[in-house]
This record gives sequence, C-alpha cells and structure tokens, in this order.
Amino acid sequence: MSEPADESPPDPTLPPTESGLSPSIDLRSVFLGPKGENAAVFERLLLEAFRDHVFWRRNVHPEDGFRVQEVEKRSPSYQYSISVLEQTLLSLLGELKGGVPFFSPRYIGHMTSDLTMASLIGYFATMLYNPNNVAVEGSPVTTRLELEVAEDLGAMVGYPAADRWGHLTSGGTVANFEALWVARNVKYLPIAVRWAAEELQVGGLTATSAAGSKDLGTLSLWELLNLPPRESLDLLDRLLAATEDRQAAAEAVSRHSASGMGYQSFGYRLHQHFGDALPPAVVLVPSTAHYSFEKICRALGMGGNQLVHVPVDENFRMDPAALWRILQDLAQRQQPVVAVVSVLGTTEESAVDRVDRVEELRTRAGEELGLAWHHHVDAAWGGYALSVTRDAAGRRRGFQSTLADQAPEAWPSESVYRALVAVEQTDSVTIDPHKFGFIPYPAGAVCFRDRRSRELVSVEAPYVFHSGAPDSAHLGRFILEGSKPGAAAAAVWMAHQVLPLDARGYGRLIGASSRGALALHRRLAAGDFSPFHLSLLPPPDLNIVCFAVGHPSLGTLSETNQFVHRLYQALSLSTETTATHRVERPDYFVTKTVLRAEEYGGAAVPVAARLGFDEAAYREAGGVAVLRCTVMDPFLAASRDRVDYLEGFAATLRQVMVAALATG
Ligand SMILES: *Cc1c(COP(=O)(O)O)cnc(C)c1O
Repeated sequence: MSEPADESPPDPTLPPTESGLSPSIDLRSVFLGPKGENAAVFERLLLEAFRDHVFWRRNVHPEDGFRVQEVEKRSPSYQYSISVLEQTLLSLLGELKGGVPFFSPRYIGHMTSDLTMASLIGYFATMLYNPNNVAVEGSPVTTRLELEVAEDLGAMVGYPAADRWGHLTSGGTVANFEALWVARNVKYLPIAVRWAAEELQVGGLTATSAAGSKDLGTLSLWELLNLPPRESLDLLDRLLAATEDRQAAAEAVSRHSASGMGYQSFGYRLHQHFGDALPPAVVLVPSTAHYSFEKICRALGMGGNQLVHVPVDENFRMDPAALWRILQDLAQRQQPVVAVVSVLGTTEESAVDRVDRVEELRTRAGEELGLAWHHHVDAAWGGYALSVTRDAAGRRRGFQSTLADQAPEAWPSESVYRALVAVEQTDSVTIDPHKFGFIPYPAGAVCFRDRRSRELVSVEAPYVFHSGAPDSAHLGRFILEGSKPGAAAAAVWMAHQVLPLDARGYGRLIGASSRGALALHRRLAAGDFSPFHLSLLPPPDLNIVCFAVGHPSLGTLSETNQFVHRLYQALSLSTETTATHRVERPDYFVTKTVLRAEEYGGAAVPVAARLGFDEAAYREAGGVAVLRCTVMDPFLAASRDRVDYLEGFAATLRQVMVAALATG
C-alpha cells in the first residue's frame, strides 16, 4: 500500500520509545488492504486463533474420547452432509460478491470502509467461544474486556475516573436511547424523592439549584424539574443516607417514580399534588440530528411532538443564538427540558456542534432562566476524533500541538478542537466503534459522567447501591439490551490495544481520513467542471464532503435535484439496479442526501444560491439534493498509487454528469 499523506518527520510531541511508550502506529499495518496487501499476516493470525481454539477443546477432559470417529466420516451420509455444507458455502461466497466493496479507495459512500485487522481477528477468534456479555457467568473474560473498552472511551472523553461508567451497545440508536432514558428518569427523580420522603417521614432534606438551597418540601414543581442532574442524584443519596433501611427507601423511590408509575398515573398525581398537570417536557436536538431521536422520544413516551429542532448555521452546526431563544421561550412557558443533544459529527455533513458553547449556555440558563437539563453528545460518528486531543500518556494536548501534529493540512479547526475538549463537561456521550472506529458491527457505546444514574434504569432491585457487588456481575441489569456478543467487545478491545486512543493511534488514523476529505473538498472546489458547476458545502469539520451539481439547461431546482439523483444512481449500487439484478459496478461510489427546507431552514439557502436559485425556489423545491462522500480511507489523498483517486473521481464525475444530462 502507498504511504499515508502524513508520513512526515517524526512527531516531536511524542515521547521517545525508550520511555516504554510505543511510537506512532504505521497506518500501513492496520488494514487487510484493498488488494489484501496484509493477507499473509491476517491468514496466519486467523489460523492461529482457530487452531488454538481446537487445542483448547481437545484439552477439556481429553479422557472423554471423540464423539465422531474417523471411520464414521467415510460413511456416505456423512460425506453427503459435508458436501451440502461445502456447496452452500460456495454459493454464499458467490452471492457475497454482489455486495459493496467497502474496502476500496473508490468507495466514498456511506460510513463504512476497510476494517482494522485487529478487530476482525479479535471478533473471529472470540466468536468461536461465543461469550454472552449479558452476565459474567456467560462471559467471564469478555465482560471484563467490555468494561475495559468503556473505560478507554470514558478516559478519552475525560469524564472523572471515579464516577464514570459506560458499556457497549448494538449501535448508536440504542446508546442514544439509553442516554435519554437516563436523562428522563433523572429529570423526574426529585419528585419521586419528595414523595418517598413524605411516605417514609424523612424531613430536613434540602436541594440546591442556581437559586440557592431550599427545603425539598417547599420547592415548586418547576423548581423540582430544574435541579441540575448531579444535584438530583445527590438528593437521592441524601434520602438513602437518612433512612435506616436503604433498600426499603430505594423501593419507595422506585414506586413513586415516573418510570415506575408510567406517565399517565404520574401526571395525574402531579395534578393532585401541585394543581398542575405534567407540562410536556421537551428534548432539544439540532435540525441535523439523526432520526433515532424521533424513535426514542416516541418509544420513551415523551412523544415525537416534544422533539424540538434547533436551527443550524451555515456550517451545519447547532446555532447557539437560536438555542438560547428557544430556551428563553421554554422557560417563559415553564416547559421543562429533559435534554439538549449536541451532535459531534452529523451523519450527513460531519458537522461538529459547539459543545463548548452549549455548556456555556447551560451555565447561563441555570443562572438567568432557572433551567437545568441533561447534556447528551451524540458522537456516534465523530467520537473517535477525541483521540487527537490526547498524548501518549493520556494528557490533554493543547490546540497548537494538536494542529502541529497534523501538518501539512489544517485539521482540526480550532472550533472543532474546542468542541472536542468540552465533551468532558457533558453528562453522557454516544460513541460508535462500528462507525469511525473501523470495527465490525455490532459495536456502539454509551458513557455516562455519573455512574449513579444507571441505578435509575436498572430493573432488578432498582435504586439499590449494591455495595461490594462487582459491576461485572451482571451487565444486563443496567442496560436496555439482554444477550450481546462478547466477540464485539473483544474486537473493540483488540483494536484499542493496537491503535491507542491518542494521537499515536486513532488520532493518526482519523486525522489522515479527515485530511483526505479536506483534500477532496479542495480538489472539487478548484476543479473546472463547466458547463456544470458544483455547489459545495463548507469544508467539513470531520470527513464528509457534500455538494450539489447544476447545469444551465436545468431551469428549476426540482430538475436539478432530479439530475443529482441520476448522478447518485450512476455512482452507487442503488436499490433500483440491484432489484433487477443489473449489477453494474460504478468506478466510484458515493451516496446522496437531501437538505430538506423543513429541517435545514436557512442553512442550506447558500447551497441553492450557488446553483443560481433563490430562497423561494429552494422552499418550493422542498430542499436541495447533494451527493455525499464519506472519506474514511487514510490513504486517499496520497497519490503514490498508480491511480490518483482524487483525479480519478473528478474525471468519473465529469463523465457521469455528461451521460446523465444526455439521458435526462
Ligand atoms: C449512525 C448514527 C447513529 C445511529 O447509530 P446506529 O449504530 O446506526 O444505530 C446515531 N447518531 C449519529 C450521529 C450517527 O451517525
């Protein structure tokens, strides 16, 4: 494989090898490679894993002898059965070639690419043992590995070591679900604590908000719903400490909780106690948020209507001024905010919301509006980019050294850097290893700042602090899912060993990918495609490049959008072609999205304007269609192969545009 673009002089910020810390990872050693360049080592290690497993089997009670005797394998029925197995595998292998060549540098479509050898081998090796991480009984080894990788992620984020907690999930959707599930339960916790304290006749509990300390019994409903998350959890601790029987107190809280009672009974009781029904609480997300939040608000019973979309700016980042206006409005109407979600790497544009600015607004909203909420970061896509902010010893690197290490391309921008380092102030974060971690499905993860919050979603013995019982005893008790693959935990663990979560390892990989995207952006922006013209979104925060395409003969934006759709069909294995089995593989793969006026509002107006369409035309067309290129390959911009992929893509794009115009 060719050398990555950043094979420049050794990084002076890295410690010398003698210190015991390894130097930067050579990215050429990480993947199987588009042509299987690393096939020899991959094969050797796979075989090693398999043989080692068989030896293990043979050594468990070797005196038992063999279930299948060699002579039996000569029987026609055995031979027939094995031949069915072999034939079926061959058919499957044939079918699989109808899939998408994610490993190829020519694939710049969805968020998939080549995977790390470490994770593939780790998965394969562990799959043979089939551990189930629902409980340590079924996964004595891999539950430990899962907790270790969650620790890696929590440390990379910077949540306090003594308090943090996290685990793997099947993906970002479930991770986001759990974060909002916790946020909702913490939001209503003070009310449950108050009712439990009344039932148990515990007096003298105080609660502290930005407005000062007050007796719990005197707080208004609005005040109860606006205690900061940490204070709500402290309040629960204080109640448990004030009672003799912690278990009974915990059960009382559970009985009085919104999750125990359900929204209907809970709302009814609020009305009885406070003369006020439960005001519908909202979740605030940027208008670029992943569609999982809509599902989640529906499934949690909060209601899809309570999902509020905050406008984004021209860089497709949540607009802090717009967020502030919405918060003021909500405070005035006394509508509680369960959570504000920042997205670190939007699915469509890889935009990084200003997590730091949202944290500033959180402080200000507490002081000026009396509002408190849970701040969740959906870093399903961009989470691994946090690794660039860590040095080999896990210390935070300053902006200048982060950037200097990434020369010659300027990545990350200072605003992205500020957002990354601010994640440590938030309450929870979703990070998907199976996205920018280059690890096979299924592997998502969620991390929480305050481990106590998991008690609010545990079902068996809820709210009980299991003194002495190790976390690893039963993961399934604290999480949404049940049975889950220990092999996924081993895959993530292997990858983190080989590519540490700092500037030497993942930081290097993510940096090279993101700089590849910037190079693609520059190439397209500089290119002369006349009579076609490209309307590019601004240079990406991470690694996704989007652009619309216009031509003088396309008189309306709707026609232009249809034209972009035809380009997409020519540059993908779109469902329309696969359904008819006409699988003609394009030279390059991209994907497509529509920046819909309904969600994007003014943010996408400049994209349409650069095509020559005004805001009215943009609204009438319902949005603007763009091609979307996700650059994960860290070698894309290094033109040392026989093919210069950036030039190749530009040439293919031109051909496809000409052809699509002719057939339109
Ligand atoms: C992919 C993605 C999700 C959902 O993750 P799954 O693993 O597909 O469930 C959520 N948020 C963002 C920003 C994503 O990119």
